[in-house]
Amino acid sequence: MPDILKTLIIGSGPAGLTAAIYAGRAALGPIVLAGGSPGGQLTKTSEVENYPGFGKGILGPKLMDEMMAQAKHCGAALIWESAAKIEKAGEVITVVTDGGTTYKTHTLIFATGAAPRFLGVHGELEYQPKQSAEAKVGGGAGVTYCAVCDGAFYRKMPVAVIGGGDSAMEEATYLSKLCSEVTVIHRRDGLRASKVMIERAQKTPNIKWQLGQVVAEVLGDPHAKPLASVTGLRLKHIQTGAQQELSVKGVFIAIGHIPTTQVLKGIVDLDAEGYILANDKQETSVQGIWAAGDCHDRRYRQAITAAGMGCKAALEVERYLTHTGLS
Ligand code: NAP
Repeated sequence: MPDILKTLIIGSGPAGLTAAIYAGRAALGPIVLAGGSPGGQLTKTSEVENYPGFGKGILGPKLMDEMMAQAKHCGAALIWESAAKIEKAGEVITVVTDGGTTYKTHTLIFATGAAPRFLGVHGELEYQPKQSAEAKVGGGAGVTYCAVCDGAFYRKMPVAVIGGGDSAMEEATYLSKLCSEVTVIHRRDGLRASKVMIERAQKTPNIKWQLGQVVAEVLGDPHAKPLASVTGLRLKHIQTGAQQELSVKGVFIAIGHIPTTQVLKGIVDLDAEGYILANDKQETSVQGIWAAGDCHDRRYRQAITAAGMGCKAALEVERYLTHTGLS
């Protein structure tokens, strides 16, 4: 490995891996810091029907496995660590990983995606499984952000899905096949999700609806054995303030994501919600650093748009290295 890399890519979702495929094919010897959950959000989804090239859809984890294999085939090296610290001095960017490894690079493509947004109500943190081993005991503690990961713990039990977007519809439809009843709780009467996803959920008999309701509290039994677990939700009507309790064993929160950009704070310009500001060439406010995918894009947030941005970033990196004589 050279003392200073031509390019380092942080993130292994569609943006990071597409950047890796292009950078690998351009012989830039990309290293990808793939992070603790390689593959990003698509590894936590089920069927992906809207990624071109798969006539009958493809499972999210399978799609990401294929992208990782393709990135390696094209010459990228994947490292299972995350960036803990980033500094730039002159034309050299230094990245220190959470495993303590230091990389120096001329260019950086930042593609870390986004993490689930928390509801922020009493009980939400208390009833999250503290670690995956614990989640395997007794069917899960109750609060989760991923139906594909945790749905099986709630087989034949009543559960709730919070949110009114495509993720909430997808989670509800998936859970309806496993759980006795799925109640979708949304803070408005109107749903944000696309028509096709809403219709699919509405046609499913065991999906019930609580619209115009917010979750006031996650209720549970802190002394339950083998682990503290959810018993229900306290709901509050948004207009009347009337409260009711809903009995559920699992709560699937699907209220959007927040960009994973903390490590870049103070280095490149971010907007008020932490999204990286970048131009149409994916250039950030700092020369030598590009951003791609959900850590930058608050509008489209699709696998295919993330992949497109990863492609653009890698092409721009190649041009920059040639132009500056650094390649
Ligand atoms: P989203 O579209 O941002 O929807 C988030 C939902 O959560 C909204 O209904 C929002 O309510 C609600 N919400 C936000 N903060 C809340 C809070 N504090 N309390 C209660 N509710 C809250 O997020 P998403 O559903 O994760 O989708 C993100 C992107 O991925 C979208 O572009 C979507 O199309 C895409 N996606 C696509 C697919 C697919 O095509 N297969 C699947 C999943 C996601 P309001 O509506 O009132 O704002």
